[in-house]
Amino acid sequence: MSGLATIGFDADDTLWHNERNFRLTEQRFTDLLAPHADVEGLSARLLDAERRNIHHYGYGSKSFTLSMIETAIEVTQGRVPSPVISEILAAGRDLLAHPVECFDGVADTLAALKGAYRLVVITKGDLFDQERKLASSGIDHFFDAVEIVTEKSPSTYATLFARHGRGPQHAVMVGNSLKSDILPALAAGAWAIHIPHELTWALEHADAPQAEARFREARAIGEVPPLLATL
Ligand SMILES: [Mg+2]
Repeated sequence: MSGLATIGFDADDTLWHNERNFRLTEQRFTDLLAPHADVEGLSARLLDAERRNIHHYGYGSKSFTLSMIETAIEVTQGRVPSPVISEILAAGRDLLAHPVECFDGVADTLAALKGAYRLVVITKGDLFDQERKLASSGIDHFFDAVEIVTEKSPSTYATLFARHGRGPQHAVMVGNSLKSDILPALAAGAWAIHIPHELTWALEHADAPQAEARFREARAIGEVPPLLATL
């Protein structure tokens, strides 16, 4: 054994479905704008707005809603009817109220790991929304701590794995995003287990660090406990 003390879990698209809800909301957004603008290339315009707005509003549903409104104004040259803006706001609220559905095997895996390690949720996004999702997930009791952060950088992981254990050398991060969960955790000196998800937000893409000795891949969360035994 490697002396692992702490396991960090990303939440969105690692513990529960998330991106698919955003994709459905984006489809609703496209349908709303179709009568008022050329929706060819709309996704790219929306992604540009999201990328710009991370620096102003951070991650999550509220930031996404503001990006949809901004894009609606842009692509209609300011002529988007106010009822459409109301509908976009409603779509954003629906996203914030969407039921949380955990992936198969999540509860069993957490139950198997609980007590042997400190289990910590490490997620970025909107504080209010992430707290709501965790509270309604039915799995919050498995965790020793929850950390909702504005950005996942190497120093974020170094700080959190020291706070909740014996530092990054004795920690592993589990998540679906190479860019946010895997690369910065490895850079901090932790282990990292990537669980790819078929839907991953365009701004989270990165190349897999196959040459990194502390990098592992799992096809599903149920593969994490046996993988831990090999570290
Ligand atoms: Mg994620």
